[in-house]
Amino acid sequence: MPNQRKLKNIDEILTRQLDLDGLSAVGMEDDKIVAMSNDTSMPCCRECFGPVKNHGKFSKDYLDVLVREDGSYDFRTIKYEFYKYRCLGQGNEKAKKCKITRTMTVKETTFAKENAKVTNRFEDLVVKLAVYMSYSQVENKLLSYVSKQAVGDIVKRWTRDKINKRGPFFTPRILGIVSFWWDKKPYALAYDAADRDIHIIDILPEVTSDNIINLINRMDRTHIRAVVCDCNQTIVDAVKSEIPGADVLVNTDALFLEVLHEFDELIRADAPHIANVDKKRLKKDNTNLREGDDTRIRDITKRYARVSVAYDHVNMLRIILSRDWDPTELRDWQYKIPITCKNEFQISAAYIDEFWDELLNYYKRRHEITSGTYEKLKKLDELINKFKAYSYEILPARVLYLPFTERDMPQKWRGIPLERIISSMDELIQKKERMKNECQ
Ligand SMILES: [Zn+2]
Repeated sequence: MPNQRKLKNIDEILTRQLDLDGLSAVGMEDDKIVAMSNDTSMPCCRECFGPVKNHGKFSKDYLDVLVREDGSYDFRTIKYEFYKYRCLGQGNEKAKKCKITRTMTVKETTFAKENAKVTNRFEDLVVKLAVYMSYSQVENKLLSYVSKQAVGDIVKRWTRDKINKRGPFFTPRILGIVSFWWDKKPYALAYDAADRDIHIIDILPEVTSDNIINLINRMDRTHIRAVVCDCNQTIVDAVKSEIPGADVLVNTDALFLEVLHEFDELIRADAPHIANVDKKRLKKDNTNLREGDDTRIRDITKRYARVSVAYDHVNMLRIILSRDWDPTELRDWQYKIPITCKNEFQISAAYIDEFWDELLNYYKRRHEITSGTYEKLKKLDELINKFKAYSYEILPARVLYLPFTERDMPQKWRGIPLERIISSMDELIQKKERMKNECQ
């Protein structure tokens, strides 16, 4: 490297206290640590890559934080001194333009993002807190060094940065895209449906065709043999038009869950005063009942006629789906929905019509798909719903990118195994509960 010289006046002790890769402290000024980059080489013009000349020294303040061993925070301001370089306008055609526009170049830093007012380390801490606290709680915890609006901005920028830094996606042979609800809006999880660890590849905070197309664009679509969806028309339609070569499957577990949901509404309408444990009993797998369940269920169904017929009908579907079935059985189930419950089961009946081919596709390929996937994803959804939806930006950070605070994103993006996400979400919920107790 030409012009590479050593920084003068380095304060070794202060540099150790600064503890930021690539930076050396050169002194203190108004309680700020003055720091410079260790890289003293001349850069190239960022536009034409031609030679530049020094345009002078500038400085910018960054708020920084160190977490002490006892968990307390050491806030400080870094006065970062750097050089600007002006293009000499020599060389290629582009350089002529540089000369007219007086193109300036500043060396990239690794300790903070361009336009940020805080260091990356500070941003990481903000995100680590924001995944289980509200933004105003983060503001309090950080002694108002950042406002709650700034917390929101930081989370947004941090997440966007992680999303952009994901390398090319690993393409699963069988892709899963299922939707759930968070704060009255559907969101979707994309996962590897043929892999035992069920890697979650992406989380789409909103279910739109554009979001699904963006996801598929990051993969090699010729490798996708099948896509498992739930009963969501937007997802099914987008997949069909984007990957015409793949089989589209609608998970029968998702259909069953809808039926259970409808049954639940019926119980709430007809037998609102029965205990919650009894409501749960009615929805349990009836081939796997505990002692005493049976008598309780008989007591209830004797009293509520519609609950009784709906109970039998739900279990009929459970039995059909749990064994090798003939497609006509599902049709049969749909036609035999008890007349008194027609309205309650109207959505699931419509789903059977709408997604008939896709449901059969799922049935045909069911052995290629990791078993119990839908139930496990539902468990993750329940954990996601333990957090209030005060901000959509935090959702991908909380579910997927938390392991990448202070760590680089991998070269090739495969996602995160579901079990690992579930245990990290459990931990966050515990932290959240602990905070609530401390406040009381
Ligand atoms: Zn230039």
